[in-house]
Amino acid sequence: MTLTTRFAPSPTGYLHVGNVRTALHNWLFAKKHGGRFLLRLDDTDTERSREEYADAIRADLAWLGLLPDAEYRQSDRLARYNEQFETLVAAGRIYPCFETAEELEVRRKIQLSRGLPPVYDRAALNLTPDEIAAKRTAGERPHWRFRLDTGAHVHWQDLIRGDSHIDPASLSDPVVRRADGSYLYMLPSVIDDIDMGVTHVIRGEDHVTNSGVQIQMFEALGAQPPAFAHEALITGTEGALSKRLGSAGMAHFREAGIEPVAIAALLARLGTSDSVEPVTSLDPLVEHFDFAHFGRSAARFDEAELRQLNARILHQLDYDAVANRLPPGMDAAAWAVLRPNLETVADAADWWQVIEGPVEPLANDGDYLALAADTLESLPWEPGIWSALTGALKAATARKGKDLFLPLRRALTGRDHGPEMAGLLLLIGRDRALERLRARTN
Ligand code: GLU
Repeated sequence: MTLTTRFAPSPTGYLHVGNVRTALHNWLFAKKHGGRFLLRLDDTDTERSREEYADAIRADLAWLGLLPDAEYRQSDRLARYNEQFETLVAAGRIYPCFETAEELEVRRKIQLSRGLPPVYDRAALNLTPDEIAAKRTAGERPHWRFRLDTGAHVHWQDLIRGDSHIDPASLSDPVVRRADGSYLYMLPSVIDDIDMGVTHVIRGEDHVTNSGVQIQMFEALGAQPPAFAHEALITGTEGALSKRLGSAGMAHFREAGIEPVAIAALLARLGTSDSVEPVTSLDPLVEHFDFAHFGRSAARFDEAELRQLNARILHQLDYDAVANRLPPGMDAAAWAVLRPNLETVADAADWWQVIEGPVEPLANDGDYLALAADTLESLPWEPGIWSALTGALKAATARKGKDLFLPLRRALTGRDHGPEMAGLLLLIGRDRALERLRARTN
């Protein structure tokens, strides 16, 4: 069987770094083992699911380079869910319940006041077929619960958490279908995982209890449960991440000029014992991906760390990787000069403007700059021009260090800091350089 993973977001919001991390790990694990990575849109909640979010999820995955081998959506599969639902009803594993939300709430409060766990008491299992038929004839519409087998703990070897178990007796039989006929997430997910040949379910540890329940659903449907990996959640610098937290969404990072590979490089290693490396492609992340490296404590996502990593990655990116995002006219030579000083690709436009001018004059050191202009004019324009110029000025004026270099930088770029002047001067070119040095002499 081909190793198959899936990323199963509900299209009820934009992806945040936590969801993207889950997608990435599913993708990395599949790639590492020559498997398949599926995108499954969990859109059974028709009220909250929106096409706009589905589109954004696809676009974000594409931007990150996490292309699915196939895409499914749960709303296309309702007939199949109904079929399997009926199988489980016939097998007595799903049963109708008629309690109202208010009734259940009252029972819950009573249980709690008696110090009992607020677990559904399975009163509906005592209804006779006649009673059920009478209720339905009277127009009452049931919701449906999956009857857990409470005889023994559910065990599995979690790829991250190790030996894991859930006591089904501590849980309520989960509602799998609402009175209006719509499905909750749990059962469709299992039916999909079976039908789509999912071999590994990789998701956040907020699903650990669900896994206990879902393992019983797999078994009830006659299927072998997949392997599970439950990852410790990641938190933001200000606490839990939420899908609606715009600041952790991909649109925000795109606008901030973060490279998708920087996001992947950080999220592949966050919460693991591996150091974060400034990789320029996903390949090394695939190669090193291993659940054995994951810890069980929550990891913190820090945007400042992402920005630093982004700069380190940028400093290694080839011109071809960024060319379509550079200002018109900016070539590979210019990229090589500017790259070490950039935090984002967008910063290149800023420096390109410095090269092309006009630049705002910064300082007055008129006589020195006039001498620099005359010296520059007398020298042959060639690749070593910056060192020839500063060498000649040093000999002529006995200036050194900052006194020698800074007035030139300020006149030529309008700034105190920036990329190496040797490269910048060549990009600025002879005419513009002379003009800028002379602009300072009045
Ligand atoms: N739609 C579920 C969620 O976003 C999927 C969980 C799963 O991976 O099974 O939480």
